[in-house]
Amino acid sequence: MQIQVDLERYRRQLLIEAIGKSGQQKLFDAKVLVCGAGGLGGPALTYLAAAGVGNIGLCDFDVIEPSNLNRQILYNCKDIKKSKAHIAKKKLKKFNPDVKIKIYPEKLTEENISDILKNYDVVIDAVDNFKSRYLINRAAYKSFIPLVCGAVCELEGILTVIIPKENTSCLQCIYPIKPSTELTSKVFGILGAIAGIIGSLQALETIKFILGLQHHCLKNKILIFNGIENTYRIRTTSKRKNCPVCR
Ligand SMILES: [Zn+2]
Repeated sequence: MQIQVDLERYRRQLLIEAIGKSGQQKLFDAKVLVCGAGGLGGPALTYLAAAGVGNIGLCDFDVIEPSNLNRQILYNCKDIKKSKAHIAKKKLKKFNPDVKIKIYPEKLTEENISDILKNYDVVIDAVDNFKSRYLINRAAYKSFIPLVCGAVCELEGILTVIIPKENTSCLQCIYPIKPSTELTSKVFGILGAIAGIIGSLQALETIKFILGLQHHCLKNKILIFNGIENTYRIRTTSKRKNCPVCR
């Protein structure tokens, strides 16, 4: 995208030293894939579009259910039973027409994931189950694409950034698959405000990476946010010996 778009929209972020006109051009040129357009994906997609990230891919095969509405802020009552990917695209295009949005209303599988990923500079994992998370982690590592992982459960959230080119620890180093691990989606509580915080942080880490501030990203680290205590703890992570993904 050329920087001929009306910059007035971005005036307040152009004033930020780390952005300026050259950073804004990097954002316009960036290609980001968001896997999952739910509680995490909604705020992540919204803030990427707000910042003018020029090319956004959006992968979600689900339809909108009434029980999504406590946290999935891209949707409203009239959207029930409609495709999340199609509705999200419509809303985001209305919000910022400068942004190109490509949707993938399909389930990510071993067969299709590499083909989708190869078109992007950064991937955001905003899915709701470990099976998909491990799949995205494996494919992103193999394709050397940075991955911004976020997850929420009840009143807690976590966030980590994986940069394969820098040989950082991967999701499977932090959460190894055990034979007994339940990989299907389990129903647990989620508060929308917690998903909003983690999804926004995923957008922020992605924007930092695009701007070339990856040394400040949460790589080899995991942030654990506790919404009850109001604490953000950051722990160091390390590569796991014999990790099947990154070793
Ligand atoms: Zn690993």
